Amino acid sequence: MAVSTDLKEYHNLVGGELRGATGGALTDSIDPSTGKVWARVPKSSKEDAVAAIEAAQHAFPAWKALSAGERAACLRDAAEVIASNGGELAALETQDNGWVIRETTYGLIPVLQQVWLDAAAKATEANRGQTVPMSPTTLGYTLREPYGVVVGITPWNAPLFTFAIKAAYALAAGNTVVIKPSEQAAVSSLHLGKLLKDVFPEGVLNVICGPGSQIGDTLVEHPAVSKVSLTGSGGTASSIAKATAGKPKPLILELGGKSANILFEDANIEKAVEAISTHSIFTGNSGQLCVGSSRLLVHRSIIDQVADGVKNYLANPDLKKFGPTMDPSTTTGPIANKSQFETIKSYIQLGLDEGAELVYGGRSGGAELISDRSDLADGYWIEPTLLKTESNELRVCQEEIFGPVAVMIPFDTEEEAIALANGTEFGLAAGVWTTDLSRAHRMISALDSGNVWVNTYARVGTDLPFGGVKSSGFGTDSIEDYSREKACVIEL
Ligand code: NAD
Repeated sequence: MAVSTDLKEYHNLVGGELRGATGGALTDSIDPSTGKVWARVPKSSKEDAVAAIEAAQHAFPAWKALSAGERAACLRDAAEVIASNGGELAALETQDNGWVIRETTYGLIPVLQQVWLDAAAKATEANRGQTVPMSPTTLGYTLREPYGVVVGITPWNAPLFTFAIKAAYALAAGNTVVIKPSEQAAVSSLHLGKLLKDVFPEGVLNVICGPGSQIGDTLVEHPAVSKVSLTGSGGTASSIAKATAGKPKPLILELGGKSANILFEDANIEKAVEAISTHSIFTGNSGQLCVGSSRLLVHRSIIDQVADGVKNYLANPDLKKFGPTMDPSTTTGPIANKSQFETIKSYIQLGLDEGAELVYGGRSGGAELISDRSDLADGYWIEPTLLKTESNELRVCQEEIFGPVAVMIPFDTEEEAIALANGTEFGLAAGVWTTDLSRAHRMISALDSGNVWVNTYARVGTDLPFGGVKSSGFGTDSIEDYSREKACVIEL
């Protein structure tokens, strides 16, 4: 790709200083709505990764020694900085990964503030242990202590949100942190690092951008790193598990999914169709959502009605509107990067080759989908796509596509719906649509999934854990997972 001039450059935050990568190496950042380079981010080396870890290691004792109240004050300041720079952060997230501005502004920024404030509120709980009387002369108790240096590795689909849930809770519990955003969409995280530079003492929060394949091993293997939290793919999780196998360390793995949205014949179909069409898989960031309901399991008696309802929604240009991602009226953004764009296109073709029926969509490319906007012609646009099949065994029903592609599969009985829903290697989320309360409870208990939503979808909150089972990972980015228990016994 030709190197452009006059592009804004962003820097790492290491030990309280804003720095480029050693030797000035840079990676181009692409605006996925246009396919054009718009900024540059550091291409950090192993040496830079070690510097970030050492800065966090150096800062740890003093940060740990602060009272929870003092740490909470910094976290509240971080929330304030995010709120007062919300417009700019939303715009950077939108330009860098294509998530439409109406959602980054009104959805993302308030959630970020909520996460940082929630971590501040929970800071005093983070180190609270239990008293365990063992005998009249023996007192047992537990202390909850921070791990030390925590490395948080984040994906390109939700950079600021994953930055928040890792850094805020780890810092609240007394750890120091190195965040490594995806090299595919690092601008918003690097800019947030700059905004937070003076909010935390030097080295407490570090942000370093570089290719995971080059600096990932260094970041996770380094002996000063006590815990690693990854939000990303199963392949990266395996690499991290291998890299840390010699000296195992605790991991939080928030990975992919193949989540089922299950519609029974007694469901409120109108509500279910609206949820499917707006915030379950056909979203403002085009289904690049870990909990995306990529399988729609629908009772055979209502499958045509549901298919027509979703089609009507997707075909309505007022409800599903492509366009400049910075335009508040645009509802549907592009795919965040070229390689994911190609992956999704090939999955749509694969589904058709495997015999799935195309119910809606299937087209791609700005030139085809937004023909009146030549500036968006080279963007990575994919039409929301609905496929239908009788078989859960197709690869498009088993593998994570991570885009605006859902496959409908009919079922006849509740047992069959459960078997289909549980019939993949993943277990991140599931939706159940029914008006039968007993069935709702039976389904909740039968589904192998970290999250189950009944008559709603993708509802997460700071007071609920969020994690997966099976190949969707383990552990949660919550305050409890960022401290460890020490057992103490005093013989009186
Ligand atoms: P990815 O695994 O390719 O990359 C994630 C991060 O890991 C990036 O920062 C990358 O640079 C880094 N990385 C890559 N190789 C590494 C290595 N060997 N060692 C250490 N780090 C390495 O994932 P992605 O493509 O950026 O994101 C999409 C994936 O993330 C999807 O599978 C999606 O389901 C998952 N995801 C899960 C959740 C969740 O909460 N469960 C949320 C969002 C995204």
